[in-house]
Amino acid sequence: MGETKTQEWRRLCAEYPDMSPFVLLKISMVWHGARLSAAALARLQAPDYRFASDEPFEIAFTGRTEADDEAPRPVMPGGVLLRDATYVYINWGETYDDPYVIDYDPAAGEFTLREPACGTIAADGDAAPADAREGLVDVIGFTPRPALYDFMTGAGTPADALADARAQKLILTAYRRCEFWREGRQCRFCALFTRRGVDPEVPCAEIAEVVRAALAEPGRYSQLYVSGGSDMGGEPAFSREQDRYGRVLAAMGETFSGRFACQLMAPAYDADALARIVGQTGVTSYSPNLEAWGAEQFGRLCPGKQAHVGYDEWLRRTADAVGVLGRGNVYTQLVGGAELAGEGAVPSVDDALARNAEACEWFAERGVTCLSVIWRPHRRSVLGWVPMPPIDYYVRLAREFHAVRARHGLVAFEDDYKACGNHPDSDLERCDLPVWQGLARQDVSPEADEAGALPLGERSGRVRVPLVSHAIAAAVASAGELGVGMPGVAPDTLVVSVAEDRSDLGAGLAHALWFGEPVELWLPREEGGAERVTCRVWRCDIVGPVFSAALARARSVRPTAEVASAWELRPLSRELVSSAPDACAPSRAPRPELHLDNPLLH
Ligand code: SF4
Repeated sequence: MGETKTQEWRRLCAEYPDMSPFVLLKISMVWHGARLSAAALARLQAPDYRFASDEPFEIAFTGRTEADDEAPRPVMPGGVLLRDATYVYINWGETYDDPYVIDYDPAAGEFTLREPACGTIAADGDAAPADAREGLVDVIGFTPRPALYDFMTGAGTPADALADARAQKLILTAYRRCEFWREGRQCRFCALFTRRGVDPEVPCAEIAEVVRAALAEPGRYSQLYVSGGSDMGGEPAFSREQDRYGRVLAAMGETFSGRFACQLMAPAYDADALARIVGQTGVTSYSPNLEAWGAEQFGRLCPGKQAHVGYDEWLRRTADAVGVLGRGNVYTQLVGGAELAGEGAVPSVDDALARNAEACEWFAERGVTCLSVIWRPHRRSVLGWVPMPPIDYYVRLAREFHAVRARHGLVAFEDDYKACGNHPDSDLERCDLPVWQGLARQDVSPEADEAGALPLGERSGRVRVPLVSHAIAAAVASAGELGVGMPGVAPDTLVVSVAEDRSDLGAGLAHALWFGEPVELWLPREEGGAERVTCRVWRCDIVGPVFSAALARARSVRPTAEVASAWELRPLSRELVSSAPDACAPSRAPRPELHLDNPLLH
């Protein structure tokens, strides 16, 4: 018998000890796939997790119902969140050879990722074999249901038909059809927008309503994102689409007083067209996705983009976009693995890696952040159901892309673990303290600067984390003090609020969680002295009850205060000491990390 998934994951962790085990697990989950047990599927239909019926990208969920045809169709779960908040997108219901099982352990109140000894299950919603703890790989979470999904627009459209939500990102679709499909020139790996019959245009008024409603949930979104199918109509080509994006982005920005973290994912426009959109709206980043490096592969895999823009022109426009939005604010992505599939494919994995590394380097030299995504074959795509490249390919690709960008001082501010979650290479940036420190801090107003400063609660502590030689002052409260009572979070769990992820505190906590290193905490005592607590960093929350409670506490002191992430620390040992060490404030991020509901943006 070959390696099990768990053995393979452990092997990858041993072979790449500098890489996050969580990112390696994400790659493994996407590569092998996952199915939901009956218990997990049932738990995901409860009000706190119940997600959308369909994705705006027109992909329907086909999980099994336990009852008869009269029973409501189960809804698609939100994305998986690993313990460090790494996001994992699973194509539910896809044909997998040997997927993981995601189960629910009612005793622990936790979702579990498992590789049961007696094998996997046939379909989402089947009973899982054996006990929920058997073959346990790790405890995992899901993106909770956004409050937005209770909202209906004035025209009667449920918000979940117009917007998709990740842990910190709201995704809007401006045009629900890709005209490349009409010409038979769709990208060869693409399975989006294959359903017909709806008006492709989404009314701007509804988009504005949805954004306003979304921002009523405190701290729920750090970024807005808009994309859609390609529409080359108009003269010159794509001008109709450009006008549409201008209108849609303006509608999205109605509630903001200036620019707000917002990415446009669209074809490569010339600099004048892009400058018009940027000038009329609050958009901050742009992602014309190249998908495949090299004219031959681009033409083979993206015939629509080739016919209507062309390879050299796509490259030129992407590089020129940096002149409009600035270095590091233009992104592009490569669909890792598609270049190795089908007729005319790149001959070997090593060849593909070398080519893609060349692409990442070429873009980085021009200030463009080039990211990889994991291609998964899909029955409805032209490439069809063909084998994926070996998992090691994706590991090496992520590692290489991360290294290239770090060398160039490029940070995926608007495509990171939180703002996107599709890119294992940008998930790896979370401990890149030297890269952040090499960037000049953006000029911001004193108020925005203060928002990311230490949000001191009544019980502030001092923390010593890996990567940092000195103790750092931090806002710390127990789960009990925060009023969080939920399974899986003991009342004595200590919650450290991090105002900015890209700080020494954020990097050190991420490192400690990734590599299982303990951290030390000093908590002041009213009667003098301090309690020294050695802790295991257990979980990073960027959404959900613990995060919301930490943010509410910070904002009760200062309404504009920020908590980028809340970290659950499990005490291992405690002792009383006469004093705590001197501590510095956390280092500051190169850019402010404001949630989009922050009053400073309105
Ligand atoms: S541009 Fe390509 S990837 Fe995007 S929706 Fe159209 S066919 Fe799919």
